Amino acid sequence: MNILVLGPQGSGKGTQAGRIKATYGIPHIATGDMLREMRDVPDELGRELKEVMDRGDLVSDELMIELIRSRLSRGDTVAGFILDGFPRTMPQAEALDELLRELDRDLDIVFDFQVPDRDVLLQRMLHRAAEESRSDDTPEAIQRRLELYERETAPLVEYYRTHQANVVGIHADRTVEEVFGEIGRSLQSVEARA
Ligand code: ADP
Repeated sequence: MNILVLGPQGSGKGTQAGRIKATYGIPHIATGDMLREMRDVPDELGRELKEVMDRGDLVSDELMIELIRSRLSRGDTVAGFILDGFPRTMPQAEALDELLRELDRDLDIVFDFQVPDRDVLLQRMLHRAAEESRSDDTPEAIQRRLELYERETAPLVEYYRTHQANVVGIHADRTVEEVFGEIGRSLQSVEARA
């Protein structure tokens, strides 16, 4: 099962991706986690990443596409994967299409995590900021990340709809259990069709 999760910061998609991984035994490819590991290496790239990420800006498409290319080429993704945090821009989405074509794979489902109330997102992010103390959880960087999501990433939902992907909207402003229930039902219907 090849799954893509789209949704703004604070929509809970990372939590749900972790649940899907635990239930279905497929890798959770979270670009934010991959980049934080690279950022913490004391070299030139690590320093550059730290600067970009602490501002809440996006890492270059070029680097992201290479990162995903090498990750999806690994054998543990053959039975499926959950892509979380990529694509975030239109060039990334186009590169992913191309890459999946090369690998002769398809996305089975795209989850669109929807939280209509921006205050709910902000509250969740502030809560997480207090718990995890990430260096990009300053008010300015949080603002910037939400802004870039709206501008660069939200349009991808429409892109997938028009490219005949199976896009499923998720009402994400509910409990983890309720949201996971809805996701489980969608995944079952994809499996039934396979
Ligand atoms: P969040 O969704 O809370 O912003 P992530 O952990 O997904 O956090 O990502 C953290 C940071 O990593 C982003 O703010 C951005 O700088 C970088 N990043 C992650 N994925 C991508 C991507 N696909 N393209 C560009 N930058 C990315």
